[in-house]
Amino acid sequence: MSEEVTSELLSEYYEKKFPIENFMSYLGSLDFQNREFGFVVNERFTRNISFENTKKLREFMVSNSVQHAYVGSVYEKPPSRDNRIHSIKWKYREFIFDIDINEYDLVRSCDCGKYDYCKICWPLVQDAVVFIEETMKEDFGFKEMKWFFSGRRGVHGWVVDEESKFLNNEQRVSILNYLTFIHDETRSQSIDEIPNEAKPLRNRIFSLLVKPYIEHSFLVDLDNPILQCQSCKSKFRAYELIEEVTGRKTEGLRFSTLDKRIQNGNIKCKYCSGELENITKLEIEDFGLTELKARKIITQVKETTSFDHNQYNIIMPNEWKVRRKMSNDIILNRYPRIDRVVSTDIKRVSRMPYSIHGNTGKIVIEIKDIDRFYPDSTPNIWEALM
Ligand SMILES: [Zn+2]
Ligand SMILES: [Zn+2]
Repeated sequence: MSEEVTSELLSEYYEKKFPIENFMSYLGSLDFQNREFGFVVNERFTRNISFENTKKLREFMVSNSVQHAYVGSVYEKPPSRDNRIHSIKWKYREFIFDIDINEYDLVRSCDCGKYDYCKICWPLVQDAVVFIEETMKEDFGFKEMKWFFSGRRGVHGWVVDEESKFLNNEQRVSILNYLTFIHDETRSQSIDEIPNEAKPLRNRIFSLLVKPYIEHSFLVDLDNPILQCQSCKSKFRAYELIEEVTGRKTEGLRFSTLDKRIQNGNIKCKYCSGELENITKLEIEDFGLTELKARKIITQVKETTSFDHNQYNIIMPNEWKVRRKMSNDIILNRYPRIDRVVSTDIKRVSRMPYSIHGNTGKIVIEIKDIDRFYPDSTPNIWEALM
């Protein structure tokens, strides 16, 4: 984005376009004066701020041209410089989920850098939204969730049921524990076995995640296998390398035919003439599958439109070792990656719905249909003021 989000634009947006009534309808006007707010003004973050009413809140945002706006918990007294939130009693806060595409950096199969997103990886966020909302409703009995764009490359889900606001720290932690299977998401990524009592979660993993997993994450190189040099470890795309060496285009070969083509064409490593090995084939063997079975699973899953755990049983091989590996791989690659502290830290402030993200100029809008939502097509401050 080349345009700059200027102070004038921000003031104008908060004066004329900020739909404070919509925003308030999620918070409820009760206890408004005891609600904590936080803002970035002139690149400086300040919190422990509260307002008597929404008019005063709007005036503040207009006159300070706030770059980022956040909303926190409700306390027994209005938070202020003299009554900081750590010295006054906490009353309640909405239960919030934060999902950001860069939490998936280690398992994204696209070429996105840390701060990018694309049509290949964005569905991870969409799947997480559907998964979490269904879990909150069916396993915990909450009735309503609202999802907001974070303004950059993620989303925030607010459980809006009254009861959710009063969950204490331990209760929030135990809900998050129920939902967590991947530990140390940025390093070891070790995966817990799904406990028996979490049967609804297990069925949901099968019904919601198997299809996207098979379509986007499972043996993604099957149609253009990767060859690795056994000496210098360089990697090549099989068909590109064959074309480069022989000048002939090939694709869609069974692995045994591919092997013959490599042997007969005397195709070796481009750099050191070392022997080449089909590592996509090794990956299939690692699953305990044959090439034929792997292809069959992919075709069957792609052709199935509505997938549930019963179909999973029909399609997947019977051996428990294969199933265990598949199920771990599904969790590793497609399972929601939630920023836990956002949900469990009850004194945290979260980005204010309908505010402007000061760096991107995008509006933190409500997402009505996650399946069709893509960050590039969200409204921004320039369009809002046109
Ligand atoms: Zn991507
Ligand atoms: Zn080599």
